Amino acid sequence: MKNSADILQSFDKAERHFDTSRPTRRCGFVMAALLIFLLSLPCLAFSVESPKLTQEELKWIEEHPVVRLAPDPVFSPFEFFDSRGEFKGIAADYMALLEKKLGIHFEPVQLEDWSEVLDQIKVGKVDMISAVMKTKGRTEYLNFSEPYLKFPYVIIASDAEQKELDLRKLKGKSVAVVNKYAIHEFLEKGHPELNLIPVTDYSKGLRGVAFGKYDVFVANLASLSYFIDKEGITNLRVVGESGYFINLSIVVRKDMPELIPILNKGLNMVSEQERSAIFAKWINKLVPPSKQWWQLSREQIIVLLITLIIMVFLSILSWNRRLAREITVRQAVEKSLIVANRNLVKAKEAAEAANRAKSIFLSNMNHELRTPLNAILGFSQLLGHDEQIPSEQRKNIVTINSSGQRLLSLINDVLEVSRVDTGETDITREPFDLPSSIASIEELIRIRTLAKELAFTVDCSDNLPTFVMGDKHHLRQVLLNLLGNAVKYTGSGEIHLNVTTLPEQKIRFEVTDTGPGIGEDEQELIFQAFYQTEDGITKGEGTGLGLTISTELVRLMGGKLTVASTPGEGSRFHFALPLPPTVATPSPDIGNQIIGLATGQAAARILLVDDHPDNQQVAEQILKQIGCEVCIADNGVEAVELFQSWKPQLILMDMRMPVLDGYAATAQIRKLPGGDLVKIVALTASAFKEQRKGILDAGCDEVLHKPFQAHEIFDCLKKHLGLSYTYETAVESATFPVKQQLDMAKALVSSLPDQLRSNLEEAVTLLDVEVSYALIEDVRKVAPELADLLKLRVDEFDFDTLHEVLADD
Ligand code: ADP
Repeated sequence: MKNSADILQSFDKAERHFDTSRPTRRCGFVMAALLIFLLSLPCLAFSVESPKLTQEELKWIEEHPVVRLAPDPVFSPFEFFDSRGEFKGIAADYMALLEKKLGIHFEPVQLEDWSEVLDQIKVGKVDMISAVMKTKGRTEYLNFSEPYLKFPYVIIASDAEQKELDLRKLKGKSVAVVNKYAIHEFLEKGHPELNLIPVTDYSKGLRGVAFGKYDVFVANLASLSYFIDKEGITNLRVVGESGYFINLSIVVRKDMPELIPILNKGLNMVSEQERSAIFAKWINKLVPPSKQWWQLSREQIIVLLITLIIMVFLSILSWNRRLAREITVRQAVEKSLIVANRNLVKAKEAAEAANRAKSIFLSNMNHELRTPLNAILGFSQLLGHDEQIPSEQRKNIVTINSSGQRLLSLINDVLEVSRVDTGETDITREPFDLPSSIASIEELIRIRTLAKELAFTVDCSDNLPTFVMGDKHHLRQVLLNLLGNAVKYTGSGEIHLNVTTLPEQKIRFEVTDTGPGIGEDEQELIFQAFYQTEDGITKGEGTGLGLTISTELVRLMGGKLTVASTPGEGSRFHFALPLPPTVATPSPDIGNQIIGLATGQAAARILLVDDHPDNQQVAEQILKQIGCEVCIADNGVEAVELFQSWKPQLILMDMRMPVLDGYAATAQIRKLPGGDLVKIVALTASAFKEQRKGILDAGCDEVLHKPFQAHEIFDCLKKHLGLSYTYETAVESATFPVKQQLDMAKALVSSLPDQLRSNLEEAVTLLDVEVSYALIEDVRKVAPELADLLKLRVDEFDFDTLHEVLADD
């Protein structure tokens, strides 16, 4: 055992430290836990071993299976009964061990106090006491085993006592001892000079010294440690050793000596590990909790080190495995990211390729459809004017032309959607006369509403600006579609167009009708391409593309087309566009028909390059109609040669041709002398911007789309060659109010020859513009006013009104 004073002092120091330092506390806790673990290792490692007992001893045990054990009820921490009456303490644990080793059952008997314990064993009422100090007097009536617990008796005084003391220095001081305990007997006999004050228990002794009632208290170190800890007394310290030790043995009543050798054998079999395990259990009470690692035994240190190494190794291992797992997870995530990325790139490439394919397909289809259509329309137009063709055949030609026109408008619709889809639609910003545009739309719609006997009102804000900046044609297209739909789907009631100004130079357009309305579930769907409601399908008119195109056009012009509708009551379509007022006046429309070059205007030399003879002829006739000189080339090579030999002022160049295409021919011409001055106008069936840019980059001045209208060519020549024309006189449309116009037209139609009237009616039914024009010229011969009125309707593609006017009542 270590020097007791040192132990208690270090205990005391550790206690104070323990209270104020958290990390140490945690560290101390870890150390204590580790210590307990280490101290308990031997228990786990070694199984209970039994002593070698003689036959007599075994026989004795067999005859005495139960031995009555009466411990001192209050000898903590060696032996005591806890609040539930259970036998506890170091001795109790030893007894439990001996029970297992020896196969004897010790039955604890709880007596009043120590005196009673001694009295009862004397008279043989109990057989054994588990922890007794051997004194001479006791040997007379008790048998003692070998001592198995040994602790020093130390002198404890208050903190104020500075000096180290021993028993000799205690003379004249009040010395407390527990009454009748062995140390009492020792001191009484060995140091009669001392002023001994017997106290009933350890608490009294400790408190007496703590409160200055006694100078010192002499007691065994184990009990002192236990009670100081239990009482929470802090102002005491061990000031010296008494020189006595407490040596505890098991005692057996005098007439039972056979048990002593058995107990001794059992105690000898208690291993060092078992002893340590018992001490570890009471360690907080007996051993300073801050016991340092250097105070451990060599074996414990080795075990501790091995444990630490194993723990470090295990943590490294688990850390490594965690890291490996994390790396695996990361690699998997990385892999899937790479795959996802690759897929994305592939998807993007596929989408781009699909888009390109769509453009190429549409462009090709456009070309393939328009090229023959160009010929169909052009020739049927020319033949329609040919007086030599019998009227029966002219009727067929009319049908060809009108069907072609219808097909063209369908192609135009589909392409318009596709153009809008791919962002190819150009929105212009030019000054235009807003009230006039509205008036012209009103006029057009009014005829149709009159025909259907629908009321039609147009309201414009008083402060509506006259000239605004915007896209007149696309606005007109949208309003005509919305108003056209309103007329088409409304059976009775009224149509209303409301145009109002909004802040920020915006103008709101609202088209209201009293038609069938649109169910809430369909109000979004109608804006999708080809979607038609039941009413739309029943009507059998239209394609379901009008609103799709209108929505996109409104969006491109900076607005949003919306609908509000109640089934059975009607619909309201509205949108607002930024249309800032402007002082710039728009260039006047050429409303009149060109009939030739202006007087004094020299004929222009035009080189026409196209591989299709049909197309060549159409363009040639249009050009010759106004007196231009025309030369034709079938491909790019011929074009280059003719440019050099014939020196044209302008070249109409088809871009897709065999041998040498328009791009290459243009490039070659531009390099030749005078090639930089000649105007080259590309003819293409492509409707896409990409090609347009490519064409202009190739050196062309302008792009014309097939099938082109005659006026487009005339505009082009005017723009690039400065040509001026002679016009046919325009028909004054606003001379009569619309209703009167309609009534008048109806009245005049009745005076027409039947054949002419039915031909015209057929042309109108087939939506054949050119034949209608041709027949109107026949009408002119008999009723010029009617011809003007009818021509005005055909100009506006207002076939519904024409039909109404021509129909047999
Ligand atoms: P279309 O009129 O050629 O069928 P639209 O795209 O212009 O195509 O219209 C799509 C559908 O929306 C129509 O078929 C019709 O069912 C419905 N619709 C459009 N305008 C109206 C309206 N004013 N009243 C009732 N239904 C309408």
